[in-house]
Amino acid sequence: MLKRLTNARLFAPEDLGIRHLLVGGGRILAVCERDDELASSVADVVDLEGRRLIPGIIDGHAHVTGGGGEAGFKSRVPPLPPGRFTTAGVTSVVGVLGTDDTTRDTRQLLAQVRALREEGLGAWCHTGGYHVPPVTLTGSVRDDIVFLDPVIGVGELAISDHRSSQPTLEELLRIASDAHVAGMIAGKAGIVHLHLGDGDHGLDLVRRALAKSELPARVFNPTHVNRRKALFDEAMELARQGCTVDITAFPVADGEDAWPADVALQKYLGSGAPENRVTLSSDGGGCLPVFDEQGQMLHMDTGRPSSLIETLGKLLDGGLPLGQVLPAFTSNVAGILRLKDRGRLQAGMAADMIVLDDANRLSDVMIAGTWHVRHGIRQRFGQFERPRDR
Ligand SMILES: [Zn+2]
Repeated sequence: MLKRLTNARLFAPEDLGIRHLLVGGGRILAVCERDDELASSVADVVDLEGRRLIPGIIDGHAHVTGGGGEAGFKSRVPPLPPGRFTTAGVTSVVGVLGTDDTTRDTRQLLAQVRALREEGLGAWCHTGGYHVPPVTLTGSVRDDIVFLDPVIGVGELAISDHRSSQPTLEELLRIASDAHVAGMIAGKAGIVHLHLGDGDHGLDLVRRALAKSELPARVFNPTHVNRRKALFDEAMELARQGCTVDITAFPVADGEDAWPADVALQKYLGSGAPENRVTLSSDGGGCLPVFDEQGQMLHMDTGRPSSLIETLGKLLDGGLPLGQVLPAFTSNVAGILRLKDRGRLQAGMAADMIVLDDANRLSDVMIAGTWHVRHGIRQRFGQFERPRDR
């Protein structure tokens, strides 16, 4: 069934003004300035009446199997049902394993990615987890990336964290070079997605890796860089050297030495660092443990995919131009992950999009040409979800 979306205020993510779109076969077939160019009697027509239409959010870091496990077996977070993503406007997601890459492995992660694909989402994953040597399915990082379709990189490999393997420079370089070469062979991202902990060493290992090796800076992709203010300054400097840095949309308490995601993005964009080298992710399904100095966990929250659309709402409420902040949620993410048909609204791309209402909140979500949310009401439910779960 063809769908015609008329009178959209299109952010592609740049502001293109009023445009009309034709959608079919899960793709955007055409984007036109005049509606009559798309005349088709067989299309289902939705008039957006000038409301803002933006690309679906790409969440480059979510624990789709459920993360956690840092406070006994009962603290293993359950897998995230598809509605946690779709109702939050996340149309594509990259799954990762975290601290617990022992009771969870690449097989489970791949199975969950396949499940999300069956539910209609765009879904990929990284092989490995926090530790060295990285957990894999085939026995090697390189083979996992080259031969397993959904695997696009390795991570989240932990550095500057008491839960990490305390990797050496040589270990990091070996893993990063495997990812880089595999990415070239398979036409994939080929990045090492690096979990940054609270440790004082910050991004020192990455700076040394760049200084000592021939690997391009883009291969090193640090996340959680807003968790300490000094770490964030280091990250902006690395972005100038060619790394893409990832801000996590986790909750930040008053007085905490961290930047909330909306503040971090504004600081980044105001710093003069390259605008295309910053992304946001949710850490959805991951645990957000708070430790004392002895590494004893004090309490635990879990990350939510909806933190991304909430962050976008805060930025817009604060008066930031949508066209300026949107790339960090969409096209920048597709760029570093080499997801060639995502993150932009133009002919040939996946028909993944969100309609925003006048209050800067999500009202509609389309994924691969199918409405998952219409007028704020959920339209599709996953295998183990029920309409009352809305
Ligand atoms: Zn992490």
